[in-house]
Amino acid sequence: MKGSCRCGSLSYSLTAKPVVSVYCHCTQCQRANGAVFVAAMHYSPSAFSWTHAAEVTPIEEKIEGYVLFRCATCYTCAATQIDATKNWAVRGTRLERDGEDGNIINWEEVKPTSHIYYANRVVDVADGLPKWEGLPNKSTRLD
Ligand SMILES: [Zn+2]
Ligand SMILES: [Zn+2]
Repeated sequence: MKGSCRCGSLSYSLTAKPVVSVYCHCTQCQRANGAVFVAAMHYSPSAFSWTHAAEVTPIEEKIEGYVLFRCATCYTCAATQIDATKNWAVRGTRLERDGEDGNIINWEEVKPTSHIYYANRVVDVADGLPKWEGLPNKSTRLD
């Protein structure tokens, strides 16, 4: 699969399935994305590679435990690398869309399988997926 920032200046390819795919309701995701929750996927380092032109340089922003890679043009965060594991975290909404209908290509293969930090939700989601108070398998399952 492929992903990019909003304007497309930064792009990457993903050559394996995500190691984690969740809907995250944590307050950081809410605040950073202006969203009630986000689709978040983690990929192993070997599955992720930048594909934009060599002269395009992302802005690297270090926050606790992560490095954010922002586009210098549209300033959206295209991807985040986790210090501890070197895994790459991407938002499902950054993935390549079908030009005709606008839907994410191959979404069924990568779509989230649970909700995390559901205790912090601002909306209830009745989709039948497991809901964790915090981290999966390390917090109370709520639903
Ligand atoms: Zn951009
Ligand atoms: Zn989150």
